[in-house]
Amino acid sequence: MEESKARKLIIEVGKLLYERSYVVSSDGNVSIRLDENTVLATPTMTSKGRMTEDCLALTDLDGKPLNDRKASSELAMHTLIYKMRPDIKAVCHAHPPHGTAFAVAGLAIDAPILSEVILTLGCVPLTDYGTPSTDELTDAMKPFVEHHNALLMANHGAVAYGEDLWQAFDRLETLEHTAKIAILAKALGGANDLPKDAISKLINIREKAGYLTESARCQACGYLEDANIPCELDGNSHNKTNSNGTKISLTREELIELLAQAAKIG
Ligand SMILES: [Zn+2]
Repeated sequence: MEESKARKLIIEVGKLLYERSYVVSSDGNVSIRLDENTVLATPTMTSKGRMTEDCLALTDLDGKPLNDRKASSELAMHTLIYKMRPDIKAVCHAHPPHGTAFAVAGLAIDAPILSEVILTLGCVPLTDYGTPSTDELTDAMKPFVEHHNALLMANHGAVAYGEDLWQAFDRLETLEHTAKIAILAKALGGANDLPKDAISKLINIREKAGYLTESARCQACGYLEDANIPCELDGNSHNKTNSNGTKISLTREELIELLAQAAKIG
């Protein structure tokens, strides 16, 4: 992405993050990957609501400065995501109050309560607590980055990422909105979960439409496991790899059928 455009975009999104109370004071950080090895990031100790285009820091993917501005101390969170996910071009980290309340309470945002959220965002897992700006934080994120587009970090906040900065921001906004609705529903006596077969249908639609790939099926996510939806992570995976190394996935019915056939042959 062109650097001058990226600078304008980061200022615009920074203002929104501040105005919507997703950050206060100098909290949070935003970045855009300009090319394979260059990142434009918000500076350290600066309110996201009062940034200017010339205050932004340029670094390489290892966080090495490429201009005279100092990037946020949490830049490693961004560079980890860029290294693990070549499809990702922008990252938004903030402390939105409802989402962060989940993170403080030790809860993931993974109840199947809103069809739109299953379609466009998927589950938001909770990663273990890690001291900000240290390897603890990035190590805790590693197992989840591949399979999710937004994460909660225990006793800290949220991070969302996307193919461009608007997609990253939208995902953060959906995370916060979902958390708010879940909290309000709890105050009204509790949210009703979507039925399991409805979840399967939504997963199929989102993969067909290309909203989320199969890698978003994650065992860390309560409802996917409950609904017996095949998962890509190790452990509870029902996915099989054939001899060509190509992944195929089986529905529960197909798996039962296959096992039944195998039993007959045996
Ligand atoms: Zn933070």
